[in-house]
Amino acid sequence: MHTEQKIGNTRIVTVRGDITQQDTDAIVNAANSTLMGGGGVDGAIHRAGGAKILEECKEIIDEIGSCPTGEAVITTGGNLKAKYVVHTVGPVWHGGTQGEPDLLANAYRNSLAAARPKGVRTISFPSISTGAYRYPVAKAAEIALKTVVEVVKQTPFDEVRFVLFSEEDFKTYSDALSRLT
Ligand code: ADP
Repeated sequence: MHTEQKIGNTRIVTVRGDITQQDTDAIVNAANSTLMGGGGVDGAIHRAGGAKILEECKEIIDEIGSCPTGEAVITTGGNLKAKYVVHTVGPVWHGGTQGEPDLLANAYRNSLAAARPKGVRTISFPSISTGAYRYPVAKAAEIALKTVVEVVKQTPFDEVRFVLFSEEDFKTYSDALSRLT
């Protein structure tokens, strides 16, 4: 199942699926600031992509110390179909009064900004922050879609794909997409 809307020349797509299996030029990892792997989508990406991704993350951390919330870095995709993995750190939900909406928007914006110089034309996002980081999914979906639409109006991609693990999340993101456009 999938839904799709065109914003200028960019397809914005929602699909239910596993982000590690996507054939887009890049996929985005909902990482933590150590970039050393973890549970959820982070663990799945490192398992599927192999040790090369973690090696590159270690080199980046040696240089920058840690990846702050809302920032993004890029590595190759190791054994994945995707050529690149963008690692971004979404905010932990603390009730919404600690800058969470802006930090989540930054994670989407900076992920696209990290991918663009590599020539990435198609990119897949998971639902950043809505698992272990407990961001309410309806609120997160609205920010995700709104931010991506804002960016691609300025600087188009060919496709931005939201890959949702559960049927419920797929519906939430698809509804947010249909409301925005
Ligand atoms: P965060 O720490 O940013 O909340 P999580 O990985 O805990 O990140 O969860 C983010 C979302 O990713 C959740 O909706 C979770 O169900 C989903 N997810 C987990 N594994 C995958 C996968 N392989 N592909 C796509 N989404 C996934």
